[in-house]
Amino acid sequence: MQAEILMIGSELLLGQIEDTNATYMSQVLAENGINLFQKTTVGDNQERIVAALNNALDRSDVVLCSGGLGPTEDDLTRESVADAVGQPLEFHEEIWEHIQSLFARFRFPITDNNKKQALVPKGAAIIQNPNGTAPGLIVESDRGIILCMPGVPRELKYMLENIVVPFIREKFDMKGVIHYRVLKVCGLGESRVDDAIGDLMSTLSNPTVGVLANLANVRIRITAKADSLEQAESMIDEVDAQIRERLPGLVMGVNDDTLEGVVNGLLQDRGWTLAVTETTSGGMIAQRLTAEGARQFVGGQVIPIDTLELNGRDKTGLDLARKNMLDYSSDCGLSVVSDPSSGITIATFITPEGEAEWQFGRAGTDERMQARTAVVVLENVRRHLNELDTGPV
Ligand code: ATP
Ligand code: MG
Repeated sequence: MQAEILMIGSELLLGQIEDTNATYMSQVLAENGINLFQKTTVGDNQERIVAALNNALDRSDVVLCSGGLGPTEDDLTRESVADAVGQPLEFHEEIWEHIQSLFARFRFPITDNNKKQALVPKGAAIIQNPNGTAPGLIVESDRGIILCMPGVPRELKYMLENIVVPFIREKFDMKGVIHYRVLKVCGLGESRVDDAIGDLMSTLSNPTVGVLANLANVRIRITAKADSLEQAESMIDEVDAQIRERLPGLVMGVNDDTLEGVVNGLLQDRGWTLAVTETTSGGMIAQRLTAEGARQFVGGQVIPIDTLELNGRDKTGLDLARKNMLDYSSDCGLSVVSDPSSGITIATFITPEGEAEWQFGRAGTDERMQARTAVVVLENVRRHLNELDTGPV
């Protein structure tokens, strides 16, 4: 079975909107074992949409379309699909009633062009749209299946996950599942991770192991194909254990876990609160903790990098971390400062059980470096709280 996607909209070609639907659709299809063969983008032009549909039907069994189902002049998907499969458009009274009732509910005046959304190619099935007016379409012809969804991401998401994917899997008798788990590692370069688990990446075929790195994070993705979710999980568990054995204590979390969430959890286990003073990380530690809703974080401040220089040596990172603990009555204090003479970043972490200090290379102050510093410092805090003796990041 081969599928392809056809993205419809001139805004996509003009770079006015980012094609997040295509990325999202690709992910959902891959997760469901639906083989994606090609992706095409076409503007709001009926002739070109019809040509793209015809080409797609010549190659693939299923064409998934996004966009162009709205009421306006440039929404041409319905007309184009009808054209490609050689069927006339028919007016569906019940769709029109649904649209009218939605407009009435939101007290929007309805215009005549909305009637267009009630047009359906003869013989097509419609996909209900609980999040908007335009229904989706399922068009089966002897040349293949065309599935149309609106471009609005929320509307597309509902249809793809609840209707379209189950429909394709049923139609092509696709059994089994594809399931994955992401192991997250922070503060290690991709090459170190590759060194530790590279052989798993090249030798395993089910589950497979892949690595994706950015800034100070590495994501290790374990993907299994199996008859059931339980079976996939247990296949993944085995590889998961092997990877953790090779990277002892270094897997920070899985799937949606965040570093700041994990650190917050470790503080919570001990009943400790935390206050933070930042220079080189520019507030990004506090930003991450607040975005996570970390309850153990009780306050913090961002001060200029040259604060230490201006105040001479009487104020060290340790002083700042201590002052912080007093200011916010916290159990723990963390400071991230830049040493005035060497420019090296020093993080100091105080807990009721003692103090730790970590030094990093010279940190730049652009946003990327601030973000990197925040990750590296938080990862050191995590390792410290986990009593890992792997040394600092
Ligand atoms: P509508 O009924 O709102 O007109 P539609 O099916 O006609 O929906 P479009 O007109 O193509 O869809 O797009 C509507 C909006 O949905 C766009 O303005 C854009 O904000 C968003 N959108 C469309 N296509 C994409 C895409 N590929 N990725 C992300 N967002 C998109
Ligand atoms: Mg539109």
